[in-house]
Formats: sequence, structure tokens, C-alpha cells
Amino acid sequence: MNDSCLEPDIGEQIVQGVEPVSRLPYGVSRYYAGLAQSDDPRADPIAAQFVPTENELIVLPYESSDPIGDTRYLVTDRLVHHYPDRALLLVSDRCATYCRHCFRRHFTGHGGGRITEEQLEAACAYLRRTPAIQELLLSGGDPLMLSDQDLQWVIEKLLAVNDGYIIRVCTRMPVVLPTRVTEELARMLGSHDGIWMVIHANHPRELTESFQEAMRLLVHAGVPVLNQAVLLRGINDDTDTMEALLRGLIHARVKPYYLFQGDLAAGTSHFRVPMENGIQLMQELRRRLSGIALPTYAVDLPGGAGKVPIESSIIRIEKEAYVLRGADGREYRYPRES
Ligand SMILES: *Cc1c(COP(=O)(O)O)cnc(C)c1O
Repeated sequence: MNDSCLEPDIGEQIVQGVEPVSRLPYGVSRYYAGLAQSDDPRADPIAAQFVPTENELIVLPYESSDPIGDTRYLVTDRLVHHYPDRALLLVSDRCATYCRHCFRRHFTGHGGGRITEEQLEAACAYLRRTPAIQELLLSGGDPLMLSDQDLQWVIEKLLAVNDGYIIRVCTRMPVVLPTRVTEELARMLGSHDGIWMVIHANHPRELTESFQEAMRLLVHAGVPVLNQAVLLRGINDDTDTMEALLRGLIHARVKPYYLFQGDLAAGTSHFRVPMENGIQLMQELRRRLSGIALPTYAVDLPGGAGKVPIESSIIRIEKEAYVLRGADGREYRYPRES
């Protein structure tokens, strides 16, 4: 790997310092907009996730368009290699709905488009010389913005490097446009051993009949499905709502995997929940719910130190910060906001 690999196109799209929030486009599927019962983001937990508000213009000094440090770990244009045995491939910058709490604002919706043949080849070349990688995450943007054919092309190229890869398709499509999950797509994904899907549902009202049908197709085709939720203020930070979400997911045979503390993404402070509230929420959920319904409450430590489970990593709470133990054993701070 030469140094030029570390200065790919998407790095150049980062604006240092305060980033205008308008850089994350507005976009919503008709289906998802139809789930909102009001178009007022202050009154409706669905609208709040896709309607931009002036709160996004508030950018705090420690916020960034790349809060988890993806760009530090870019090894080719589209490949993020942060953890030794896993790598994340950015296959599209587009989404069917742009989440207002998006943490990958340095890439999402910036016009990068579908991964090109050259970019995929560069990623494969890196993978060929990095045998420690055993698992690949397809992300973006949303990988299901690709056609079935293009997605199959990406998967087959990757499996040609190592047919033992676990491949995670990280997508919000079953939530924002569930009809994208067709029988053909489910069959294609299920035909390769080792393909998992990780979805992103945040509210029980997202678990519609159409969503459940998409989950049925995937599970019947042999694709395990996990959910990653984000703890969002006023949307799912009360115990009853979160309980309904988690119960709904396991009824759809989706295993709740992570509940994320909000990342320090530019213009998202209005969504963040104090960590002690998150910890309290988890304690209450543990009293109410079975183990298969419980996610791990986790945070991506600011600046690229990686993901840790909060409840077992928190060391102490200071006046202005939560202090957590990183995977490397060092202490990291996450701001304590009022
Ligand atoms: C979150 C993430 C992963 C996967 O982490 P898990 O804890 O295994 O879910 C892999 N690569 C990157 C860059 C990530 O941000």
C-alpha cells in the first residue's frame, strides 16, 4: 500500500471544521413519508427522522462530518479497514431516505454513486493481500440502492477473493422501502453461504406488514437478520417505545444487535440522549425483556477509537464527560451534554 491510497476521493470531500449541514441531502421514499402521521418533526417520530430542521444548523465544536473516523481508516477509495478481521465497503453513496441523524455525512449523498469497477478492483487487491480480514460489511449510503445485478456483481467479486467471507449487507431499505426486498433478491442473498443482513429500525411504527413480509422473505431464503437502532431523543428514548420496537423485531425474527448512543455527527445534538438515560433505559429493558430481545448498548468512541459496549466500558462520569475504556485499554471521553 502506498501513501496515495490514504488520500482517496472521499477524503477530499471533507470540509475541515464546521460543516454546513445542508450537505446531507433531503430525500424520503413515498412509503416512509406515508408512515408519518404528521409532517411536523417535533410531533412525529417518523417525520423527525427525515424532515430537516433548523436544529441541524447547530454544529458543536466537537462534532464532525466523520465522527467515527472512517476516513482515517480508508485503505482504498471505498474500503474502510478499522478492525483487524473486518472491513467495510462503501458500495453506494445514495439512500432511499436520508436519516437526519446520519453519522456518515462525509460520504452519504455526496454524489460518489455506485462503486466503480476500478474501485472494487482496488478493494479486492487490498483484500487479497490482507488475509486477516474474514468479514465484509457492505454499506454506504445504502447497498440496496444498487440493482440486484450490481449487488450480485459486488458480492461475487468479493467471494472470488475468499469464498469463506462473512458478508453483512447493512441497509435501511427494509424499513424505508420494504418492497425493495423481493423474492429474487432474497433468493440471491440466500444462495451464498455467509450472507447476513443488518437493518436499521428505530421505532415500532416502522414494523409494518410490508416490513414483516420483507423479513419473512429473507428468513425463508436463509438470510439471518439483525437490527441496529440509534437511541434518539423524543423518538425512541422511552422504555415503552423501545420495548415495543424490540418485541416487534423478535416477532419478525430479527435479532436486536446494537442500540447505538448517538455519534457526534455535525448538527445532530438535538437527537442525542444523555448516556445515563441510556444506561437506565437498558436496566429497565433488562427487567422487562428476554435475552433474545436485548441489544448491546454501544458507542463508537469519538475520533475513531472504535465501538465499545457502554455498560461494561464506562469507568466514571465526570462533570463534562463520560469516561470509557476503549478496546485498547485506554480511557476515552464522550461529552456529557446538558
Ligand atoms: C461498526 C463497524 C464494523 C463492525 O463492527 P461490529 O462491532 O463487528 O458490528 C466494522 N468496520 C467498521 C469500519 C465499522 O464502523
